[in-house]
Amino acid sequence: MPRFIIDGREIEFKQGQTIIEAAANYGIDIPHFCWHPKLSVSGNCRMCLVEVEKMPKLVIACSTIASEGMVVHTHSEKSIAARNAVIEFFLINHPLDCPICDEAGECKLQDYAYQHSVGESRFVEEKVHKDKRIPLGPRVLFDGERCISCSRCIRFCDEIAKDSELTFVQRGDRVTITTFPGEELDNPYSMNVVDICPVGALTNRDFRFQARVWDMSHTNTICNGCARGCNTEIWVRDNKILRLVPRYNEEVNSYWMCDHGRLNTFKFVNADDRVDGPHLRVEGNLVKVGWDEAFAQTASRLKSFAKDEIAIIGSPYTTCEDNFMIAKFAKSVLGTGNLDFIRHIDPEFGDDILRKDDVTPNTLGAELTGIAPSKNGKDYSNIIKGIREGKIKALYLIEDDLLDYDSHLEELIAKLDLFIVNASNFNKSTTLADIVLPSATYAEKNGTFVNFQGRLQRIKAAVATIDADRALEGMSMSRLDKFGTKFDRWASGKKFDSRATWKILAGLSAALGQKYKYQMAEEVFADLGKSVSVFKDLDYDVIGDSGVQLKINVNELTAKV
Ligand code: SF4
Ligand code: SF4
Repeated sequence: MPRFIIDGREIEFKQGQTIIEAAANYGIDIPHFCWHPKLSVSGNCRMCLVEVEKMPKLVIACSTIASEGMVVHTHSEKSIAARNAVIEFFLINHPLDCPICDEAGECKLQDYAYQHSVGESRFVEEKVHKDKRIPLGPRVLFDGERCISCSRCIRFCDEIAKDSELTFVQRGDRVTITTFPGEELDNPYSMNVVDICPVGALTNRDFRFQARVWDMSHTNTICNGCARGCNTEIWVRDNKILRLVPRYNEEVNSYWMCDHGRLNTFKFVNADDRVDGPHLRVEGNLVKVGWDEAFAQTASRLKSFAKDEIAIIGSPYTTCEDNFMIAKFAKSVLGTGNLDFIRHIDPEFGDDILRKDDVTPNTLGAELTGIAPSKNGKDYSNIIKGIREGKIKALYLIEDDLLDYDSHLEELIAKLDLFIVNASNFNKSTTLADIVLPSATYAEKNGTFVNFQGRLQRIKAAVATIDADRALEGMSMSRLDKFGTKFDRWASGKKFDSRATWKILAGLSAALGQKYKYQMAEEVFADLGKSVSVFKDLDYDVIGDSGVQLKINVNELTAKV
């Protein structure tokens, strides 16, 4: 491979690569605003000016193609002076908004100003004033004074979202961003412009002024909005999720996520309708009880049915660990083969960018962990038929809303002798349930999902529950870190009394006379690895933050969906 020297270090590059790209591959960050690895090169910010020996002038590293034997200096006197001058130009008209700007703490201009500015302005004239707080669309607000005209947002709409909604108007220091006449910035990926805007010119209307970023914790996880499984970060303050942002994974979602995933997949975690503690129906009302009582009552009621009178519906919304335990509970503890889960397919949702028609995160995981009827057992449609015919008398619905899926089933479900629901939030199905057990949300537990590609990815607890808080009592920070649990146990804020489904079922199994010694999700996963060959030799460390590809025939599995 050809090589060149940058700041005294020899590096290899691929033919056609620019200096900034080749340097980035070696972790060398050349300061820049307008360049983005996934967008076309516009070369307008001039921040990446570097000195190349034998070239008469400084060159911009984002558009200068690397060549064999080139000698590049990013820290020479000349390149530093040029960068300082660029920053001075940017700051001429930039408002002193940092104390109230959402971007503060993660702003490239702020960071570079600390590194490259002389600390005071020579500009004494009135700054150019532009429009502030302009809604560009339903989800993004624009501040004209903060914009440095890098054009990243315009190129994102043109090249990634494939929906040209933004453009520059005016010239010189009056230049600004606007939408085309009659257009709004409302494509399904519009909020990615907030992430890539290098300053605070574009802000997320949902998150605006909710918190300073340094007051929040952030945890790597996976979006639960569809089978893509975009890699994301959950940002939390006082045990409440305030925003989701995408996390880079070239194999899955690159730098992006859709607006639906960003906005609609976390508010239920903070919502007022959470099931807080186990509930039993007493004289028509759901009454909160302790876990021991809930386990004892549920076990005793389940014991009163014959094995084939009981059916269980697992869930593509929950983890492999939970589904593995559901399959065990059905087949080994209750002895029923009436087991299936509901496929949630929305043909209107998918697109050619990221979104998939399967609007659940773990359909393949549910398949692989054994959520399927046994030889003589009933699948979903036969379970419903069995209820109609009076053959199925007890139904255990786990982390799904059957009555939201099919409202026609209401009368039928009301006829069951026993209807148990594991749910994180009260929903249509819990209104008919005899027993409601509070399941932890994807943001409150550790576990794994398998996305539509057959990629196994980890979710991590970002929000504390009462149960997790208790379980982690006394655990060292290094052990907490090993298990990926980053939330601040001591943070103030509401903690719900909910548990991961695997843990609820372990408690119920004990009440039914069968003990599982699982203490943590990784122990359930280890057992899964022993039982299902595709998970063999894997553990949470191996899966890591970017996931691993399972050796499975995805087409064969998705054919069932
Ligand atoms: S709004 Fe942000 S991303 Fe768009 S041109 Fe201005 S600075 Fe760049
Ligand atoms: S494409 Fe799917 S997984 Fe990705 S952010 Fe959107 S809903 Fe979430």
